[in-house]
Amino acid sequence: MNANRKEATVTHYEHRLMGCSSDEEPGAGTMIFPQIGSHDQAVSNRSSEFIHRYFPLTNVNSWNDWRWQLRNSFTTAEALSRVMTLTDDEKNTLQRLKNRLPLRVTPYYLSLIYDSEPGAPLRRTMIPTSGEMIITEAEKADPLDETGSSPVPGIIHRYPDRALFTVSQFCSSYCRYCTRSHSVGKLGHLTKDEWEIAFRYLEEHTEIRDVIISGGDPLTMNNNKLEYLLSRLRSIKHIEILRIGTKIPTVLPQRITPQLVSMLRRYHPLYLSLHFTHPDELTKDTRRACEMLADAGIALGSQTVLLKGINDNSSTMKDLMHKLLTVRV
Ligand code: SF4
Repeated sequence: MNANRKEATVTHYEHRLMGCSSDEEPGAGTMIFPQIGSHDQAVSNRSSEFIHRYFPLTNVNSWNDWRWQLRNSFTTAEALSRVMTLTDDEKNTLQRLKNRLPLRVTPYYLSLIYDSEPGAPLRRTMIPTSGEMIITEAEKADPLDETGSSPVPGIIHRYPDRALFTVSQFCSSYCRYCTRSHSVGKLGHLTKDEWEIAFRYLEEHTEIRDVIISGGDPLTMNNNKLEYLLSRLRSIKHIEILRIGTKIPTVLPQRITPQLVSMLRRYHPLYLSLHFTHPDELTKDTRRACEMLADAGIALGSQTVLLKGINDNSSTMKDLMHKLLTVRV
């Protein structure tokens, strides 16, 4: 272990001791974990190596706890620098983010990219570079004019028979290409009253038969809140289809638990629009998450964004699609 890695370890441990949890979504507490032990086989070799290097006081049960992943996500250049060598361009860009889409990467997803070369596909989707700072005249902060199609907070109603309900602006990891970066990671959460106003809008608009639950990432909400949302929407008779847009199985597969899946299956017909961009995202953990969802009868699709230099060639895209089919996406 080199000096930098040792420092990273100590700092993360101190971070937990101090209970630094200001930027997390669900409730969290301060925990001190025992040494990694006999659960090594429960994670991939890559995750295991990452845990040993940077979270040596953490056991695999904690690593596999989605709340632990959120509490320990990487949100600053300093934290990232302790586990990976950033280029000058990446470092400078991180300092200039200010009011732009924030940095946030789960330890799990970082374990896939921390030792990759600059320009590697998954690294480019999470670590900002100076290209992100170039805004051309033709670009708009809100390219789909979602703000203009929003009759009440949280609802985007552009097509007659379907509506988007943006229930949270929080994601476990922020994708640098996010089309909703004008609001994601910045706006606060909807209040309870705003949720009720949104439900009322959906109740009154009987032409809406399909609701896409989006954000941010809805699966960062806890099960109780999520179930309240689903049951409330299911009580509206004219809504036939519920779809959840989420990147969780890709960036935080630990969130797909038996409890979550057994709750979701009560709200069929339910679809999940997943969000895969590259075949390297199809890990053992991600496969397990997709298979659990598919076993619960949830229809899975991938909203794959075409990204220059990341997946815009036929062999990468073919590989991704073939791999997704093997996990019933
Ligand atoms: S998960 Fe979706 S909403 Fe969140 S940053 Fe990525 S693209 Fe944007």
